Amino acid sequence: MLYLDYAATTPPYEEVVETVAEVMKQHYGNPSSIHRLGMQAEKLVQGSKEIVAGALGVRADEIICTSCGTESNNLAIKSAAYSYRNRGDHLITTVIEHPSVLEVFRQLEQEGFRVTYLPVDNKGIVKLDELKEAVCDETTLVSIMYVNNEVGSIQPIREIGRILTDYPKIIFHVDAVQAIAKLPFRPKEWRVDLCSGSAHKFRGPKGVGFLYRRDGIQLKPQLAGGGQEYGVRSGTENVPLIVGMAKALRLSMEDMEAKTEHRYRIRRRIVQGIAAIPELAITGSELEVEAAPHIVHFSFSGMRAEVVVHALEQRNIYVSTKSACSSGESDPSLVMLAMGCSREQAASGLRISFSEEHTEEDADQLITALRHVVNELAPMLNVPSARRGKRR
Ligand code: PLP
Repeated sequence: MLYLDYAATTPPYEEVVETVAEVMKQHYGNPSSIHRLGMQAEKLVQGSKEIVAGALGVRADEIICTSCGTESNNLAIKSAAYSYRNRGDHLITTVIEHPSVLEVFRQLEQEGFRVTYLPVDNKGIVKLDELKEAVCDETTLVSIMYVNNEVGSIQPIREIGRILTDYPKIIFHVDAVQAIAKLPFRPKEWRVDLCSGSAHKFRGPKGVGFLYRRDGIQLKPQLAGGGQEYGVRSGTENVPLIVGMAKALRLSMEDMEAKTEHRYRIRRRIVQGIAAIPELAITGSELEVEAAPHIVHFSFSGMRAEVVVHALEQRNIYVSTKSACSSGESDPSLVMLAMGCSREQAASGLRISFSEEHTEEDADQLITALRHVVNELAPMLNVPSARRGKRR
């Protein structure tokens, strides 16, 4: 089996599975209980926060544990919008955010907030001039993802932070779910106020994530209850998963530079292989500084992406399409449309995502399978195949 869907989720490290089981068995106390078992559990949560905080260069009391990246995004955006509504009602995000960001902004629009959705260029990167133009006196929040989950484009978070330095009252939130443990990230130094992470993207358990909240940023709780997590996120902490998250983050960040280098090597090999198949076209930037190390995105114009996913699945290779399937028809990808791709291309996008453990042989196996699949499927298209791929 060749699992190449790491941007969707990752297999947890064996050690993480063992640690989670161990904590479930041995440390089931409630961290809010004042007796010894409670205090042991509380200590584990604190230790875990220190590890997460250390990985980001922030303080442990700036880490709020949540149930997933989706919750972190909801908490950050809604809480910041409501908490600072007295300052203004204008919010800024981009057209290519994950649904756990975009749908929150749609809800906020219904509640009377004004939202600017920044466009992206044909590489899937936000235009900084548009950001500068969009900022106004009523802007209270800018939310921009670090790595796009679909095409893998890297947003210039550091530059955006620099621009926002001139606007100290604006809260800057970054959805870093696809970037953490893949790319360098120093939220505090980069003037980021809030940032979301999710453990299952870096080989931790599903159902646990975190929100970094810079000291001093007010957040309006979205869950009423016992006031855990500094009053921001009520609910008994999921101690085993929090410990598992910290362990996974520590393991995945060990030798990160070497892992990143290796991922780019694998990426290069896959990109070269795809570029040699005339029916296929790589999406996004050709520059590695603008493309995440673990994601390759491409299209097989005219071919429904699900057909390719299933054809590869028959060869025991697992990749992803982000085009949701409705009544048997591919919906075009909004991210690809935003990048200026044709509807046909945007309905045929495929994502390959991998880990530092994949090898050049894995890359070659994928390319060989892709070549076979394309040869098999291309005759089903009713225009000459060589003309399709490179069209925009
Ligand atoms: N943000 C991005 C960029 C993602 O890729 C994902 C998951 O795919 C999420 C947020 C949501 O994370 P979770 O699955 O933990 O809710």
